[in-house]
Amino acid sequence: MSKVLASRARQVTRAGSGGADLDCEKQSVSGSVSQRACTFCGSRVVLYPIADAIHLVHGPIGCAVYTWDIRGALSSGPELHRLSFSTDLRERHVVFGGEKQLEESLLELIERHKPRAAFVYATCIIGVIGDDVEAICRSVAERTGIAVIPVQSEGFQGSKKHGYDAACKALMTLIGTGDTEGITPHSVNLLGDFNLAGEIWIIQEYLRRMGVEVVASLTGDGRVDLIRKAHGAALNLVQCSGSTTAVAKQMQAKYGTPFQKVSYFGIEDMAAALYGIAEHFKDPVMLQKTRELVSEEIAAVLPVVQECRAALEGKRAAIYVGGAFKAISLVKALRLLGMKTVMVGSQTGNPEDYKYLADLCDPGTVIVDDSNPAELSTFLSEERVDLFIGGVKERPLAFKLGVAFCDHNHERKIPLEGFVGMANFALEVRGSVCSPVWQFAPRHQGGADAPAAEPVRAPALVEEVAS
Ligand code: SF4
Repeated sequence: MSKVLASRARQVTRAGSGGADLDCEKQSVSGSVSQRACTFCGSRVVLYPIADAIHLVHGPIGCAVYTWDIRGALSSGPELHRLSFSTDLRERHVVFGGEKQLEESLLELIERHKPRAAFVYATCIIGVIGDDVEAICRSVAERTGIAVIPVQSEGFQGSKKHGYDAACKALMTLIGTGDTEGITPHSVNLLGDFNLAGEIWIIQEYLRRMGVEVVASLTGDGRVDLIRKAHGAALNLVQCSGSTTAVAKQMQAKYGTPFQKVSYFGIEDMAAALYGIAEHFKDPVMLQKTRELVSEEIAAVLPVVQECRAALEGKRAAIYVGGAFKAISLVKALRLLGMKTVMVGSQTGNPEDYKYLADLCDPGTVIVDDSNPAELSTFLSEERVDLFIGGVKERPLAFKLGVAFCDHNHERKIPLEGFVGMANFALEVRGSVCSPVWQFAPRHQGGADAPAAEPVRAPALVEEVAS
């Protein structure tokens, strides 16, 4: 095993080594430069795709940098979510309090944009100075008649995962407040898909063909009034389980709505998700429609997948993404392309996820929780990776090492979900891995069998060594 900080040793293992019991779901090690975002960012990524709401960041302007431009959730209608609002707190607000600034900002924004709701995100400094965000939200809601929802997401509360919980709590204040009349028995809510590249429209179209009604989307292409009546749906489908499972569990407890965890990535998991829905509704007609849909869609994309596989067979891949559920689907999708996953990790995986990954991956695959650039660079080099799959923070690591990259997260512009998404994924992976540009990367200068480049290491991180 590569050298890692002693305090990180229990968060890295190899499949087949008997050590799948990772010490995950804990605070990042100080100084290790974790790839994780803060609590506020966690709540923001879940809520901001709600397109007809105002999203007001209560704090200094720097917190508001995490905008639509970094993670561009698409909307089929209003685009209020694309605007970034901040109370822009300065020193005087820190000394005298920011409540007045918050109240004035909310009143001005509601008057100007007429949103269906407003979310107010409390950042670190709000937790320090103690603004009563809830009281201001309540007062503005009473004055304007608009739901103003506080999101207690002070960054220091914990990790990105705590932000998911804060977002789920905020969503639960909307769910249950709308009229559910007319919702059909074969109805679902889509949870945990953020429609970064129009994926939700692909899934909605599959469901329409199966005869399933989509009540609300939480939160990609989301609408406040539809979320209000989400409790009228018969089933919740939870993709990206880390971010919205809390909503599904609370809806189950409060409204009796069952939920299924699904993944729309890769042929295998996409088909399993659709069959799971059809089986839930126990409707033979729906089951037959699902069979037809799956076989038609697979027939359409398989030639593309096979063509790409011919070029990718035997290539080595590394995965580092936010949620482990996505990582699981990616391992399967890469296998379909003939590729071997040699490293896989996530920011927010739980023990169950890592156990599943350890069983799924080939023996020797590195499995890592809450990693950092020094570790990731080391693994990419040592494992002689041909492709790295990650998000905006992982991209520079890949390019600096001369490794092909596939963005499966923030900046994606091509949908990678659904059957058609598998074809897009195959084409993108082939395009990147087989690009002639990599022959000029230092690690390839010595020929195909050249040893891996020296890992980029932060010396302070490898001096303290665990084996
Ligand atoms: S950690 Fe705190 S200060 Fe930094 S972005 Fe998050 S909320 Fe803002």
